[in-house]
Amino acid sequence: MILENLLRAMQPGAGLMDFAVLLAAVIAGILLILLGTGLFFEVMNARHPERKVQKNRINARKWQELAYAPGSIFTLSLCFAGGLFAQWQGWALAPLPLSWWSGPLTLAASILLYDAWFYWVHRLLHWRPMFRFHALHHTSISPTVWTNHHETIVEASLNQLYFFVIVFVLPIPWQMLVVQKVYDQISGMLGHAGYEHFASPLARAPWPLASTVFHDQHHGSFRFNYAHTFSFWDRWMGTLHPRYDATVASFEPKGEPAKSS
Ligand SMILES: [Zn+2]
Ligand SMILES: [Zn+2]
Repeated sequence: MILENLLRAMQPGAGLMDFAVLLAAVIAGILLILLGTGLFFEVMNARHPERKVQKNRINARKWQELAYAPGSIFTLSLCFAGGLFAQWQGWALAPLPLSWWSGPLTLAASILLYDAWFYWVHRLLHWRPMFRFHALHHTSISPTVWTNHHETIVEASLNQLYFFVIVFVLPIPWQMLVVQKVYDQISGMLGHAGYEHFASPLARAPWPLASTVFHDQHHGSFRFNYAHTFSFWDRWMGTLHPRYDATVASFEPKGEPAKSS
């Protein structure tokens, strides 16, 4: 029955019930990722206390922060399921057939586009008239892996609307959109983990990747480091934390060259 609805949602002419089942399936998938990623970081953090980014700050508000997860997860699931449904119903751009080149190419393009979307939406949320919608997220000065969904519905909508809009702009095969959403959920939680487990030269100049320190410094300082996956928007716009590169280097395993900027 559920599978029938899901298969019907993938064909033009599907109904509201088919969309509702798709939405429920997306929510279930997001909850699984939340639990799996959250437990992974809980174990990793307990095993490596020396990797804590903000050494003197403790965040014991896990359950208060998680109280906002249902609204956040419902909103992002609605946006994502809406994007998939719009493409499957033929309302959006016809996607490229999935192939060895169309998949990686559209996925890379979409990750780059989302990084730009996230950076500018985040800058907008820090604009004084808009900050009221983002202030809740910033009550976590030292974030934990559970802080990812500590946000208002307005903030979740502005960020996640991307996954609905993109199918009207980019002919991305839906499978790649699923891969990106899984990546987005895991990387969002990694950014809030509070512990730097993946420090690497790839996460500092001249390389563009952002590590956990990147978003942790955003929470710790209220400014700097507005992007998501890459640091180049912040480098271009002059909003990179002045100690970002050096802090990443300080977490790298000993023996590697620790160049600071
Ligand atoms: Zn912010
Ligand atoms: Zn955050």
